[in-house]
Amino acid sequence: MNNQVKKFERWRNDMVESQIIARGVTDSSVIKAMKKIPRHLFVSDALVESAYGDHPLPIGEGQTISQPYIIAEMTQALELKGDERVLEIGTGSGYQAAVLAAIVDRVYTIERNNTLFLNTKKLFDKLKYHNIVTKYSDGTLGWDQQSPFDAIIVTAGGEEIPEPLIKQLAPGGKLIMPVGGNFTQELIIVKKTTKGIITKNLGGCRFVKLIGQHGWKNN
Ligand code: SAH
Repeated sequence: MNNQVKKFERWRNDMVESQIIARGVTDSSVIKAMKKIPRHLFVSDALVESAYGDHPLPIGEGQTISQPYIIAEMTQALELKGDERVLEIGTGSGYQAAVLAAIVDRVYTIERNNTLFLNTKKLFDKLKYHNIVTKYSDGTLGWDQQSPFDAIIVTAGGEEIPEPLIKQLAPGGKLIMPVGGNFTQELIIVKKTTKGIITKNLGGCRFVKLIGQHGWKNN
């Protein structure tokens, strides 16, 4: 193993220990996935040195990749066992999808920005993440042909949870999404049960806008 690779592995371990485990994330599959996925490969060359820092990072096209802790918290909230099919809305850099794909059987991910879609699709091929299926579309409509999903993660914020996504969630399935206004939102987790929908608020957060038919209308 060369020194660069070793350095990033060390930074990755430090990130997981000090930002994720120290703040109370306990799910061993999440911890293992985040120790494995090379976050620095999901950002531009100029940002490689800050890839493991305790903050979000720009990924181009006015979008951002979430702070590592938020990724861990959202992934843990889905309580994944490994045999699930998960839908992600907002592929972006592909980092969140890669973390999910290290845990579950198959990840479906939708991106509405063509530049990010094409770049990230190429990266998944290069890194041989063969269990991630990508789509260029408006994710607020979900992915009907591939539904139902055991879990859905929306990585952009909207005023309400898009109706099609609730419909495409399997019985017993969980959905997590930042819900709120333009600038700040609350992280909402929804569980679909036979008795209806159970909702829990995990607290404040800040995401870029979910834009689409069941999201924000403007850019
Ligand atoms: N999960 C990403 C985070 C990217 S930021 C990562 O790990 O890097 C949110 C992304 O959601 C942006 O790339 C944005 O273009 C995308 N997005 C916004 N509205 C969308 C929609 N309706 N459908 C699909 N993607 C959307």
